[in-house]
Amino acid sequence: MEAPRARAGRPELSIVVPVHDEADNLPILVERLKTVLAGAVSSWELVCVDDGSRDGTLSVLKLLSASDPRISAVSFSRNFGKEIAIAAGLDHASGDAVVIMDADLQHPPETILVFLEKWRGGFLNIYGQRASRAGESALKRNLARAFYKLFASFGETELPEGAGDFRLLDRKVVDALRALPERARFSKGLYAWVGFPSIGVTFEVAERQHGETKFRFGKLFSFAFDGLSSFSTVPLKIATWAGVVIAVISTLSAAFFLLRTVFFGTDLPGFPSLIVSIMFFSGIQLISLGMIGEYVGRIFAEVKRRPLYLIGERVGFDARTVDHPRGDALPPLIR
Ligand code: UDP
Ligand code: MG
Repeated sequence: MEAPRARAGRPELSIVVPVHDEADNLPILVERLKTVLAGAVSSWELVCVDDGSRDGTLSVLKLLSASDPRISAVSFSRNFGKEIAIAAGLDHASGDAVVIMDADLQHPPETILVFLEKWRGGFLNIYGQRASRAGESALKRNLARAFYKLFASFGETELPEGAGDFRLLDRKVVDALRALPERARFSKGLYAWVGFPSIGVTFEVAERQHGETKFRFGKLFSFAFDGLSSFSTVPLKIATWAGVVIAVISTLSAAFFLLRTVFFGTDLPGFPSLIVSIMFFSGIQLISLGMIGEYVGRIFAEVKRRPLYLIGERVGFDARTVDHPRGDALPPLIR
């Protein structure tokens, strides 16, 4: 057992919420959580990670924290992205169990009660699975489905379909996740990778309360590629396979042309096929190079060993009592 922390001891449940421009949603979320959690757990805390918001989210968090000591927040020096905000939240949460949820009330707080029931029943890694993707466009739905299919056939890790970031993790799972050193954090994959007794709980995704989604298509695509490349080396192998197949085809056609020239003489017209084949091979080479580049880029990002995030400010934390290695491997000035 670790020694209990000075700040109000160690709560039974921590709620970690990545927050980017959600000033209007936060007060509603806090009220809903208070109602749901009253009597459900012996003690709880809310850890919000302000991911470079520009709409006054931080002042809302300060007010909320001043009015309720169970609410605390860390504020990044800029927008680092939701995945990293979650990592920071896990670093700052001290509960025996940690729930991760969005700030926009799309993840119904009532589902936490079901999570708790499963947790008390012995499950350590409990993930919310959306019942449907009704609120999303058909294009987004189909792309999501394609991604899961691709991941299932490529990835070396099994990803439950429809499982997102809304989940409850036992302290053991949180500590396992925090021990993973990688920078490119595709957390959906990481949750699955760490394992532990896991179970899904279906929930209906609610409408976003205020504001709009921050995930546009471009971001979702790069997110999907991050996921595939972090958990699979198949894209690298595709380049190799394509190279082999094309080498065989070109050897065969070279032999064919050689024989044809020997037996039937030469015919000059051949420029179109020449140009086409040059372009084709340049294309293949560029694709292969690009593929390798993507992985080299990731290796580069890992070896730089930059801190995962920089904290601008902490609200409601006694700095000496928090144990958070990643954001703090920094000279005091930046902190
Ligand atoms: N979020 C974040 N950093 C970002 C983008 C989003 O912390 O760069 C938070 C956001 O405040 C919300 C959650 O991540 O709490 C989910 O974001 P959003 O609702 O925009 O995504 P969607 O529900 O459309 O997937
Ligand atoms: Mg949302």
